[in-house]
Amino acid sequence: MSVIYIPREDGTYDKVPVTPENTQRYIQSMPLYAEDDDPSFWSQGKIRAMQDEMFKRQMEWVWDGHDYYKRAFAANGIEPGDLQTIDDLEKLPLTYKKDYMAEPESFKLKPSNPTLYDWVFEVTYTTGSTTGVPTAFWNTIHDAHGIWQMIFRGIKLGGFPPYARGINLFPLGPVPHIGFFRARDIGIMGLGSMNMFGCTGMTYPEFPVHRTMDYAMDLIERGRAEVWLGIASFIRRLIMKAEEQGRDFSATKHIQALGEACPKGMRDDMRQRLMNMGAEDPFISNSYGFTEMQGAMPECTDFSGCHNPAPNLYFFEVVDEETGKRLPDGERGLLTITHLNRRGTVLLRYVIGDLGALTHETCPHCGRNVERSIIAVGSTYATRTSELVNLKGTLINPEILRDEVANTPGVKEYQIIFTKKDLTDPYSADELVVKVAPMEGFDSTRVEKDVVAKLITAVEMKAKVEFVPMEEIYDPTVALKAYRVLDMRPKDL
Ligand SMILES: [Zn+2]
Repeated sequence: MSVIYIPREDGTYDKVPVTPENTQRYIQSMPLYAEDDDPSFWSQGKIRAMQDEMFKRQMEWVWDGHDYYKRAFAANGIEPGDLQTIDDLEKLPLTYKKDYMAEPESFKLKPSNPTLYDWVFEVTYTTGSTTGVPTAFWNTIHDAHGIWQMIFRGIKLGGFPPYARGINLFPLGPVPHIGFFRARDIGIMGLGSMNMFGCTGMTYPEFPVHRTMDYAMDLIERGRAEVWLGIASFIRRLIMKAEEQGRDFSATKHIQALGEACPKGMRDDMRQRLMNMGAEDPFISNSYGFTEMQGAMPECTDFSGCHNPAPNLYFFEVVDEETGKRLPDGERGLLTITHLNRRGTVLLRYVIGDLGALTHETCPHCGRNVERSIIAVGSTYATRTSELVNLKGTLINPEILRDEVANTPGVKEYQIIFTKKDLTDPYSADELVVKVAPMEGFDSTRVEKDVVAKLITAVEMKAKVEFVPMEEIYDPTVALKAYRVLDMRPKDL
């Protein structure tokens, strides 16, 4: 289990379990945290009243200079003043990724009386869309400040050890992952944090600035990195390679394994390997983030749920896929975000593309009252809506397959493939293939039996297990992350 690190006078830490009392001790031990009137600890009623106020002002800004929503309001008979509170949101249709991708410029606020704070500060890009074309997301100077406040509060929420050495392991991609930017900002806003950068990623021969995974491992070992941030499958592969090389990773305390789901089996495996390299019970955390929130919702402890770090910036809703109506706490539906205080790209009821569930109950671990995204499937928070697949006539959720295979003992790397008995014949039967790179010392017949049995229970389907070297599944020098689910079947059937 994870702990909170309360700094002592002599530079060491008091390591205590995550409880509401200890969370307050942690906050009170640092003036910068203690002085921050953090809304996540306000009552649920006070949070909502603040959100209503922010929403009302954001709507005035939208009426003043948001091309897309002014058009959408007109099409839905919405007049200025009709949208007063968060509850009025239901009058608005949902905004889908395709709407935003089609005309990103018209989602950018064009205020009639701009100030210096309305100048563009930074453009980030959404990635992972089906077309593969990144979409611009504009932050003004105003937005950048809001993001820094969110980052500051997120670090506090995630229980990052203060005065720690951090490392940004996000790749320097041609279109850098949003995590690269925000891990950079965590270095800026962290309490006394010192930051290193791995600078891995796709090389650009014209300017050979990229570095190797071995360089990143050297930084962790010689620079005594305590806090790491990066993409979960990349971090795991780095840990595996380091373990093979017998590295000393004893300084590691807190890892943010991001950008994809990091189920329990994967976390346990990473933690064990790090402990083999001298680390003391490191916390492997899987915050839930995406470009349109410019950051992530952190866990306060293992599987606590992912807390909204900025209720003054964002309102999250889970809505019914068919009707767009808001669903009650605990029910699974489309996760959406509404911006409450932005001057660049502004999105309302924007469908993130994941199915998830929320709770507004006070967190029993840290005592915060903000909404949390709760475990939706197995040990993961969200499941990609687009990934629901029809296999052998049955609709199945690949996230369940992922969770089952990832949590099978002896599975080092895996990939789930939907294919055909005969790929040249589109009408031949569907097949479920699981590629597995087994761990050393495990009996592969046993691993195969376990995977097959687990999937029969989970999705009532018999899988064909193939054993392969782990590079065949994921090569970190080539890909950003491991692709866990592939659909090889011919399209347009
Ligand atoms: Zn909590």
